[in-house]
Amino acid sequence: MKKFIVESLIVHGICPSCRELTVLVSVLDNIYKCTNCGEELQQHVNGVIKYLPINKDTKELLYGEKSK
Ligand SMILES: [Zn+2]
Repeated sequence: MKKFIVESLIVHGICPSCRELTVLVSVLDNIYKCTNCGEELQQHVNGVIKYLPINKDTKELLYGEKSK
């Protein structure tokens, strides 16, 4: 079982999953984890910074998880 390496980078933002103003902890370069609902979010920089929920494909890319 993999464990997240929690770095010291913490930001406040509105989680698109639980829609709460919450603390987002950086777990990878541009990946944040919502401390409220536990959803993993991807910081998407495109003029504005948004936090997007990570879908299954993204997860496989990041963590090397394979679906069957
Ligand atoms: Zn959340």
